[in-house]
Amino acid sequence: MKIIGHEKEKEIFGRVLKENRLHHAYILSGREGTGKKLFAKALAKAVLCENGAFLTDCKCRQCVLADSGAHPDIHIIEESPLKIDKAREISADAFMTPLTARKKAYVIDSADTFGQEAANALLKTLEEPPADTYFFLITSRYPQVLHTIRSRCISIGFGLLSDDEVCEVVSSNSDKTDDEIKAAVAISSGSAGYALYMLENMEKQPTFGKTLNPVELFFEIESLDDKEKVRAYCASLYGYLLEKYKRTGNETLLDFSNYLLDILKRLEYNVSLDIFRLDLYIKTIEVLSEKS
Ligand SMILES: [Zn+2]
Repeated sequence: MKIIGHEKEKEIFGRVLKENRLHHAYILSGREGTGKKLFAKALAKAVLCENGAFLTDCKCRQCVLADSGAHPDIHIIEESPLKIDKAREISADAFMTPLTARKKAYVIDSADTFGQEAANALLKTLEEPPADTYFFLITSRYPQVLHTIRSRCISIGFGLLSDDEVCEVVSSNSDKTDDEIKAAVAISSGSAGYALYMLENMEKQPTFGKTLNPVELFFEIESLDDKEKVRAYCASLYGYLLEKYKRTGNETLLDFSNYLLDILKRLEYNVSLDIFRLDLYIKTIEVLSEKS
């Protein structure tokens, strides 16, 4: 299992595992598509490994089972939102003896979607879990995780991937051309998952290719009511601009694509979406209505 990037987190957990100081519950938080779930699975595997291997090759029975994706003592829960019945089931199951390993691990995705009831069903188990049972919760919206859950877990924040790291992940998971990959990496803002999403969706965006209709464009941009939509939109626009630049050699298009990269970076901070959309609209009209 190869985890790209996150050297600091690897070091933290490597040390904790080696010194046998692993806490029983963690929340791994950070932007979507940066490899948190993969990391949590690697941790679950390390917890069960008979040789204490973490991110290194091991052929012990537990690791072989874990690599097959069917280890009966590694539970991956991806239900979103987590329903109360499932939360109760996890809590009850946690107290059963492991089936083949000496320990058990739970990887629970979307910790920010736990409602009050589901959270309540998990609280006691998170607080006083049975010995040798470990929980790795995952979220890309840490502030939305209920306080009661947060207070029972150690939080580890995962940073963004570098462009090289995103490129490494994307290249091994996509059959797109180098140019397309390069464009997706450039607008990924450190999320490999996002770059992959963009590669899959680059051709699906409608408006840019057509004759520009300012009213249509206005409503299209107006409908981008959250940052993810804005990112996706800018990303496909970016892909379109580069493509058009290659055909026409028009430098304005290249400038605009660089401008898009800049504003995508600004989006990481707290900019007003209204101002952002207005900027984007004006600039898009200005550039795309030019004859090129
Ligand atoms: Zn092993």
